[in-house]
Amino acid sequence: MTAQFPFDNSYARLPTRFYTRQNPAEVAAPGLIAVNHGLAERLGLTLPESAEDQARLFAGNDIPDGATPLAQVYAGHQFGGWSPQLGDGRAVMLGEVVAPDGARFDIQLKGAGQTPYSRMGDGRAWVGPVIREYILSEAMAALGIPTTRALAAVTTGETVLRERAMPGAVLTRVAASHIRVGTFQFFAARRDVEALQALTDHTIARHYPDADGPSGLLEAVIGAQADLVARWMGVGFIHGVMNTDNMTLSGETIDYGPCAFMDVYHPETFFSSIDQFGRYAFANQPQIAAWNLAQLATALLPLMPDRDAAIERFTEAVNGFAERFDAAWHGVLRRKLGLAEDREEDAALAFDLLDRMAQGGGDFTRVFRALSGPNPALAEAEFRAPRVFGPWFEAWQARLAEEHRDELARVTAMQAVNPALIPRNHSVEQAIQAAVAGDFGPFHRLNEALSDPFTDRADILDLQAGPEEDEVVTQTFCGT
Ligand code: AMP
Ligand code: MG
Repeated sequence: MTAQFPFDNSYARLPTRFYTRQNPAEVAAPGLIAVNHGLAERLGLTLPESAEDQARLFAGNDIPDGATPLAQVYAGHQFGGWSPQLGDGRAVMLGEVVAPDGARFDIQLKGAGQTPYSRMGDGRAWVGPVIREYILSEAMAALGIPTTRALAAVTTGETVLRERAMPGAVLTRVAASHIRVGTFQFFAARRDVEALQALTDHTIARHYPDADGPSGLLEAVIGAQADLVARWMGVGFIHGVMNTDNMTLSGETIDYGPCAFMDVYHPETFFSSIDQFGRYAFANQPQIAAWNLAQLATALLPLMPDRDAAIERFTEAVNGFAERFDAAWHGVLRRKLGLAEDREEDAALAFDLLDRMAQGGGDFTRVFRALSGPNPALAEAEFRAPRVFGPWFEAWQARLAEEHRDELARVTAMQAVNPALIPRNHSVEQAIQAAVAGDFGPFHRLNEALSDPFTDRADILDLQAGPEEDEVVTQTFCGT
């Protein structure tokens, strides 16, 4: 059977200055690493039967009927500096599929060869970033956090030159859309009001059908991003490269380059090798999101008839991010602490725990998971300096007691929000090392375990553990 994708390519119907038509480059010897059959089914895709044909499909060697391959153009602020022209430099979008439930998704091949936006890049990806994105994006989905997803990963049979020759690979990424803050900035910077209007209409129709014009869109995106960043922080996720070209209008996490989950909690944690000053450190993420949203607001201004009134209104909307983020973040923390009632002082209780984790070297995931058990006092063992824990524990117990909540209900609720498993840097690194040596076993095992992150399992204790001293990963690298 040949591939059948239910394509309906609305982005390709936008004016041609939104993209360049571009076929993926053929690769020498496609080899299948993984196909996400659950996702394929959710999207309503029919895949070819043989592994060879699937590999050719997801390598870009065979183009499914109805595809209109293209590279999207965008701009963006990278580390605060303006880049007037970016775009899909190593990715080609095959088109959009409309799933059986009516939801629309982009299907994109990442590592598909050079495009007009490749600048100095080779348009390729190697197996490391590809399986990294596969693992992390699927883990985020399983954690219930809005994200792009991974449909497939293949090897190309070619080598890609990085610090040394690496095995080449292609990831098939699925997204509600690839529309970025930087897409709006691209047209705003060119004073192309017509394109900006078309992009705004397209984005509203696709993601926020109830939004009323540019202001409504801005408000909706601010709300989605406030919620997203709070959810990231609730699982100790550090995006790592929150440039405006890596922020979606849909509110999905995108661009799994140097991102990472924290082991031991510290608000200033960052891993990205290119983030010299910790601009995108864990606790900076809300401020950076607000900054990016201010860029979106600026890009939308040319659409507003009364510029001064719009500036006032948009400024208020962007300033409102802080309050919306705080409400979302406090809610996340309250649920992580198993508190059913919403009280003013709960945030302080949660922040006190975080401070103590930072002081006492508490593993973010393991502390919260231990607190979620029937014997939460065991969480003490998850601190390097356990003395910090006792006083906080007593305060939390007192607060819990005021709720008269059934113990089993507390445990069930907490275990549903505090994962037993996250993709830890050292486990991901080990899976990559093995993959480079040709063994995808650890990748598959990690992936399988991460598909069910809220269940305690005796067979994955090693994956739940924090890193040994010699396993600690201090730096992560861009997905190039
Ligand atoms: P990122 O840091 O992943 O958000 O990428 C920033 C920009 O660099 C985007 O326009 C990418 O398409 C482009 N880029 C990254 N890696 C490559 C590559 N290997 N070849 C061509 N373009 C790339
Ligand atoms: Mg990017």
